[in-house]
Amino acid sequence: MTKYTCEECGMSIGSMTCGQCDQELTHSTIVKPDGSNVHIAECPEGHGKIKSPMCCGQDMTCKV
Ligand SMILES: [Zn+2]
Ligand SMILES: [Zn+2]
Repeated sequence: MTKYTCEECGMSIGSMTCGQCDQELTHSTIVKPDGSNVHIAECPEGHGKIKSPMCCGQDMTCKV
């Protein structure tokens, strides 16, 4: 199960699902033009992608 965790406070969020097909979003990472990594969650059916949730001012990370 995909699970996001905040390294600062330990809060975690369970799986997120696509609003269109109800499938669990898969974790992925994209590299921005400036070279930094952005954690994202995307629909396996290609309905779209969202930025991973943030907590304590930083991206929550996903342990696969
Ligand atoms: Zn936090
Ligand atoms: Zn979908």
